[in-house]
Amino acid sequence: MAEKKNKAEELLYAPKNGHERMDAAAEQACTDYCAGYKAFLDAGKTERECVAETVAQAERAGFRPYRRGEVLKPGDKIYRVNRGKGVFLAVIGRQGLDAGIQIGGAHIDSPRLDLKPMPLYEDSELAYLKTHYYGGIRKYQWVAVPLELHGVVALKGGEIVEVCIGGSVDDPQFVIEDLLPHLGAEQSKKPLGQAIPAETLNILVGSQPLADVEKDAVKLRVLTLLHERYGICEEDLISAELCAVPAYRAVDIGLDRSMIGAYGQDDRVCAYAALRALLDTEAPERTAVCLLVDKEEIGSVGVSGMQSAAFDTFMDDLCAAQGVERRVCYERSLCLSADVTAAYDPNFAEAYEKRNSARLNYGVGLCKYTGARGKSEASDASAEVVARVRRMLDENGVLWQMAELGKVDYGGGGTIAQYMANRNIDTLDAGVPVLAMHAPFETVSKLDCYMTYRAMKALYEEQ
Ligand code: MN
Ligand code: MN
Repeated sequence: MAEKKNKAEELLYAPKNGHERMDAAAEQACTDYCAGYKAFLDAGKTERECVAETVAQAERAGFRPYRRGEVLKPGDKIYRVNRGKGVFLAVIGRQGLDAGIQIGGAHIDSPRLDLKPMPLYEDSELAYLKTHYYGGIRKYQWVAVPLELHGVVALKGGEIVEVCIGGSVDDPQFVIEDLLPHLGAEQSKKPLGQAIPAETLNILVGSQPLADVEKDAVKLRVLTLLHERYGICEEDLISAELCAVPAYRAVDIGLDRSMIGAYGQDDRVCAYAALRALLDTEAPERTAVCLLVDKEEIGSVGVSGMQSAAFDTFMDDLCAAQGVERRVCYERSLCLSADVTAAYDPNFAEAYEKRNSARLNYGVGLCKYTGARGKSEASDASAEVVARVRRMLDENGVLWQMAELGKVDYGGGGTIAQYMANRNIDTLDAGVPVLAMHAPFETVSKLDCYMTYRAMKALYEEQ
C-alpha cells in the first residue's frame, strides 16, 4: 500500500488549489498586493490613463525618462512613453545588454466602445453618440450598463483636452438602452450575436432641448454643455479619441473576498503585475524590461502596438549606449508575454477541455501556445523555454499551471507573444485566468493575480 502511494507521489502530476499551498504571510501579501491592483484599475480605464498612472508610480519609485545617448549603469531605472499610449520601463542589469534582457510584456488596451468621428445626433428629441466597437465584444453585454466617457480631444492649435465624464461621484453617466422584455418577443428569437446590431450601440447623452431653438435643440444643448465644460465644438470631435467604458469600480467578489470584479482586467491585471514587479526590482543580473503596449485587442497593429518599431527603437537606444548590437541582445533574451487566459467555468463546461484548462486559484497560467484552427497565429514556445520557466517559477515558489484557451476548434485568441518571438526572442505566454473575459465586468482570483506578480519578479531576477 505504502509503496503504491509512493509510486503515485513519484510519478503523478497532482496540482492542488493554491490556497492549500500558501501560508498566512503569503495570503496577507496577496491581499495587500490586490489592494494596489484595484486602485490601479480605478485610475486607468484607457491605455492613455494607464500610461499616466504607470509613469506616476514609476517616478515615485525612482524611474526617470530616458534621454537618447545617455550612458547607463547597473541599477539605473528609466522609462520611455510611446505617444501617450504605451510605455517601456527598464532596470539596468549588472551584465551588459549582450547577455540579453528579461522582458515582461502586457497590453493596456481593453475592449470598449469608441465614438465615431461624427458621433452626435438627435432622434425623436433624444441625443445620442454613435459608436464603433473596439476589440472582441459580445454586443448584447453592453446594453443597459452604466457607461463613462474617457479620452482626449486634439484641437487644431495643438492643445489636448482631456475628457473624463462619469468617474466622480457627482458626474452624470451614460447608457445604451435595451428593448423591454414586454416587446422583445421578436428580438429574443434572434441568435445572441445578432440580437444587438453594432449600429444600434448608440449612447444616450441628453433629452432636454435648448430654449428657443427650432431644430436639433437637444443635440445643441449637449454641445453647449460640452463647450462649457471643455471649450470644444462639434467639429473638434473629428480629431478626438473618446471611449465609452463601463462605469464600474474594481470590487471584491465573493463572501470570502477571494476574487476581484472589474472592467478591463484583460490585460491590466498582467500589466500591473509586470509593472509592480519591475518597480520592486533592484539591480538585476540581466536588464529587466517591462513593456506595456496598446492595440493588442485589434491585432497589435499601428504605431503604438507591439508590431510597431517603437520598442526596437527604444532597445536600439539602450544598446547603442553600451555598444551592443540589438540582434545580439534579442537572441539571448527571454520574454513572458503576460496576458490573460480563460478560466474554466463550470457554468459553461461544454466550451472547455477540463484537463487542459486554467482554474481559478491554481496560479499563473502558462500557455505554450494560443491561436486558433490548429495553432494558427500562435508562437508555440519550445519545450526548452517551457522547461526553463517551470524551473524558474519552482525555484521561486511561484504557483503556476498549464492552460489552453477552451476546447480545440471552439474559437481561440492571440497575444503579443508571436510579435516578440518574431523578433528572435524566446517567448512564453503567462498570465491570469479570467472568468467572462472581454465582458464589461470580468472576474479573476486574487491568488492568481499575486502569483502572476511573483512570476514576473522571478523573471526579472532570474540568474
Ligand atoms: Mn489580452
Ligand atoms: Mn483580450
